[in-house]
Amino acid sequence: MFNILNLCECVGNLHMHTPYSDGESWHQQIAQAALHAGLDFIVVTDHNVLVQGVEGFYGSEKSGYVLLLTGEEVHDQARQPQANHLLVYGTEEELAQCASDPQALINAVNAANGLCFLAHPNDSEIAWLGEYAIPWADWQVYGYTGLEIWNYMSSTKDLMPTPLATLRTAFRPEEGMVGPNPETLAAWDRLLAQGQRVVGIGNSDAHGTIYHLGPLKHEVFPYDFLFNCVNTHVLLTQPLAGQVERDKAAIYRAIRAGHAFIAYDLVGDARGFRFSAHGHSTATIMGGVIRLGSGITLQAIAPVRSHFKVIHNGKVVMEATDRENITYTAHTAGAYRIEVWREFKGKERAWILSNPIYVEDGNYRVSTL
Ligand SMILES: [Zn+2]
Ligand SMILES: [Zn+2]
Repeated sequence: MFNILNLCECVGNLHMHTPYSDGESWHQQIAQAALHAGLDFIVVTDHNVLVQGVEGFYGSEKSGYVLLLTGEEVHDQARQPQANHLLVYGTEEELAQCASDPQALINAVNAANGLCFLAHPNDSEIAWLGEYAIPWADWQVYGYTGLEIWNYMSSTKDLMPTPLATLRTAFRPEEGMVGPNPETLAAWDRLLAQGQRVVGIGNSDAHGTIYHLGPLKHEVFPYDFLFNCVNTHVLLTQPLAGQVERDKAAIYRAIRAGHAFIAYDLVGDARGFRFSAHGHSTATIMGGVIRLGSGITLQAIAPVRSHFKVIHNGKVVMEATDRENITYTAHTAGAYRIEVWREFKGKERAWILSNPIYVEDGNYRVSTL
């Protein structure tokens, strides 16, 4: 069993690009940006290329170190309209050749002991700019690890319906950003309610793209800005050891198990958030499974007083404002997850989204990993 009080939290970002695909900065520079933002690990995911030979700890004794890993974002480049971007981690082999059939690709990831996530599942278009949407289209697929619940770059597209709104968002994305796409949350809740184990992660999708407007040059959403926005906080049983293969395995194991939460760290440093479930002589943390028995006590704690929501199979079953922690007794099986909302720049924003705890009984069972 976990010692719930002794988990090691490690903050990372699992979606970004270099010039190997359509990003601006190379691994070394991205690692610097990640260090600057205080991240513990990053996973670089270029389009349809698994870049090898660059994984490792970057930094110095003075600056500290960040673990840089590589995965890839695979999609079928021939498909029209474009859709189905799949984030792939931990496979050690190139899988872009499987892109034309999303299910075959997911099967290949699983055969290679990898993890995969449906990227920006409900991406929108920016009609006036001619930027098309790249959502997930083939929802009948199965066997994927989870969903990219919050992709910050994809969420900014929702804030760009007009030229003026686009300009505002390009310079101040945080003004309009409220939370992840509600359709993605609804899709997640539907899958969870069906007993599907679906891990949620949150990422930047940083590209560091520079736009030129006559003599003006503006880097829209630099890497270090985005690494201070939506991240995935992973809970490990031991701190990172400074050994690439071992730490990589520990991070991916924890993510696969859903021992992680999504945080919009610009709103406030979310380190310290915890969500656990306690039954008669048994306990688990987010991502875990627990038997309902005569009732389960859910506990959540946030670093500062904020607005908590307990969500059961997609329905808010409890809300509490101005609280540092909450408890809720669950008498019904299903998936329970926590959202923490907090005021930032005059508006309440989604701050923390936990992974679910699955409370099982005779009727509600979750699929095995
Ligand atoms: Zn993508
Ligand atoms: Zn991407």
